[in-house]
Amino acid sequence: MPTVAIIGAGLSGLAAAHTLQDAGYTVTLFEKSHSVGGRAATRKRGGFIYDHGAQYIKEGTPTSLAWITQRFRAPDLLDIKKPVWTFTGSGTIQEGDQDQNAEQKLNYRSGLNTLPKKMAEGLTIRSDTRIDRVQRTNSGWQLFDQSGQSHTNFDLLVITIPSPQARALIQDSMLDPGVQQAIMQHLSPASYNPLISVMLGYHPRPQTRPYYALVNSDKKHAISWLAWEHEKAEERAPANSGLLLAQMAPDYSREHMESSDALIVQQVAQQVATLIQEELPEPVFSDIQCWHYALPAQKVGAEPLNQQTIPYGLAFCGDAFVGGRLHLALENGITVAQQLIAHH
Ligand SMILES: Cc1cc2nc3c(=O)[nH]c(=O)nc-3n(C[C@H](O)[C@H](O)[C@H](O)COP(=O)(O)OP(=O)(O)OC[C@H]3O[C@@H](n4cnc5c(N)ncnc54)[C@H](O)[C@@H]3O)c2cc1C
Repeated sequence: MPTVAIIGAGLSGLAAAHTLQDAGYTVTLFEKSHSVGGRAATRKRGGFIYDHGAQYIKEGTPTSLAWITQRFRAPDLLDIKKPVWTFTGSGTIQEGDQDQNAEQKLNYRSGLNTLPKKMAEGLTIRSDTRIDRVQRTNSGWQLFDQSGQSHTNFDLLVITIPSPQARALIQDSMLDPGVQQAIMQHLSPASYNPLISVMLGYHPRPQTRPYYALVNSDKKHAISWLAWEHEKAEERAPANSGLLLAQMAPDYSREHMESSDALIVQQVAQQVATLIQEELPEPVFSDIQCWHYALPAQKVGAEPLNQQTIPYGLAFCGDAFVGGRLHLALENGITVAQQLIAHH
């Protein structure tokens, strides 16, 4: 059976890996980080547990729901019952969309990262291994990591990383020039917005609200999302403490990528207090995550690209092709792996 290398162990890469492994392929994932999950990320710091990337996963199709709730079910799976409300640039807070709030908002008491960790079980994953370039040889694919070490020989290659990073990787690689040019052209319109996540821990706990989170509906506020993160589960914050998690809008994030953490925390804490009209004390804890490639601003179709590259033994999947949602990335990983299987 063919051997497959997958670059990236986010939900898309993990879903592709299981689909290929189920079909009998020998799969190796290469992941630049120490842990799996990509933007489905959780930290445990200062007594708090928080998801500094994606906030929750929606059910998606019956397939993705079955993967989350049955095949990779974790005992601490939960549905965030409280709704998401909206706010405008001028700070008006209103009830959110009823249909959207009726959908399950799935997460885990111990953090969203539980899902990719569960999916990683039974897979071969080379962590702390960033692939910088690949080469197509007569005997298959050769991958080169950050230390120049090569990893051989794979019949097939799946690239699951955000499209600007995929483009840079392809540019530095040795491929058939026609294929290389076609990929570069196809990926060129794709772009991502940056996002700074700001975590603010408070003691005592901020006031309880009728909602779990607020989303900016008119894109006219520096904050795009504000969550009462401790509402996800009691153990996510120390007793009588709470964690407010603000995701900053693209313009603010772009302007402050290089700003000091102290400045960002000070500015955002003030903006949060003004938005929710609550006198908050100094945060007892803070943390910041700068996502350079947070959510696709411009996606590109996977289908026409993969139609060209799959016969060559190369496939692309991930949220760059379907939009910035976990269930979509997972479903796309399954679909693209099935297309690869159908061809090889
Ligand atoms: C702040 C934030 C909030 C979000 N909120 C939500 C939400 O509430 N609900 C929702 O559904 N979605 C949300 N999303 C979007 C969701 O997280 C993504 O759509 C999804 O995680 C994409 O999965 P993926 O597998 O395509 O990519 P990723 O999760 O980015 O996985 C790609 C993996 O590739 C690795 N990698 C990159 N380059 C290399 C390389 N050269 N070599 C080896 N490995 C490499 C990365 O480390 C990463 O693990 C949010 C995203 C962010 C950033």
